Amino acid sequence: MPARKNVKAINKKETISILVPCYNEQEVIDLCHKEITSIIDNLPYNFEIIYINDGSSDETLDKLQKIQKKDERVIVINLSRNFGKEAAMTAGIDNVSGDALIILDADLQDPPALIPDLINMWKETNADVVYGQRLVREGETWFKKFTANGFYKVINFIASNVEIPRNTGDFRLMNRRAIDALIQLREKHRFMKGLFAWIGYKQVALQYNRAPRAAGETKWSYVGLWKLAMEGIAGFSTTPLRVASFFGLIISILSFIFAAYITIRTIIFGIDVPGWATLTVMISFFSGIQLLSIGILGEYIGRIFGEVKKRPLYFIENIYKK
Ligand code: UDP
Ligand code: MG
Repeated sequence: MPARKNVKAINKKETISILVPCYNEQEVIDLCHKEITSIIDNLPYNFEIIYINDGSSDETLDKLQKIQKKDERVIVINLSRNFGKEAAMTAGIDNVSGDALIILDADLQDPPALIPDLINMWKETNADVVYGQRLVREGETWFKKFTANGFYKVINFIASNVEIPRNTGDFRLMNRRAIDALIQLREKHRFMKGLFAWIGYKQVALQYNRAPRAAGETKWSYVGLWKLAMEGIAGFSTTPLRVASFFGLIISILSFIFAAYITIRTIIFGIDVPGWATLTVMISFFSGIQLLSIGILGEYIGRIFGEVKKRPLYFIENIYKK
């Protein structure tokens, strides 16, 4: 009998794909590539590094092309314009060929030094997803921490079918099964943290300290974060719609009681014309509630509109690879 125990040694090394979405990252991209390669060069796997240029308006693409020419493990996917990080990651995920993938930010906030830890944890726990969980948020204002905290509380309270782990980002390792699941989710409104959680399977956390940006500026404004929060809430829960009907019900009951009270009082004491204050307060209160409810409806209708158009999530201008 041929030596069976050698089968494992003969087996091809597994390939791990590293995904890096880049938008105007000319200041850090070289450093980023240097860090990544210095880590993976010592690991017993094949690597494929996919940089997605998300329509940068600076020198990012040039720099990436140079990196690609020098390093045959590198693939550069150039999108036709800026589609946002979520779409950029999707473009990468759709194109990975590895047995597992790791998503990293170009600004080195997700330390490449943790790549071996992610892989070890994946191997040890046999999990489908190993997600990075931040312990401290360095270089972030108390207001950002406070709002982020509040957001996780709200979303996990109202989104009943998924549990989005707190303090996680896109930094994670996913195996082939999780990748294939994620590829099937083609919704336009992509709240990735939610989608990552929604696919299920065995998911474990790797805790780490999130560093401040290595260079350049964050691409997130508070307006952007607000939109992302709405995306998460409206994309994963219909609770706000129910809240609107709940308010409607409560207010109808109250107005019914109030109407009865007014009628009886008028029968007994006759009409007293003053009541201007009550009227004004009530009119503005109810207009507010109505506008709010229409707004909530609008959030959902806008999403339906986005989905029914069935546009592709991104367009690829070119793929540069060996
Ligand atoms: N990014 C992207 N497209 C965008 C905005 C950002 O691909 O439209 C990338 C960016 O280059 C970086 C990652 O997404 O690699 C995270 O962006 P950023 O550091 O600005 O966000 P933060 O770390 O502040 O959440
Ligand atoms: Mg960042």
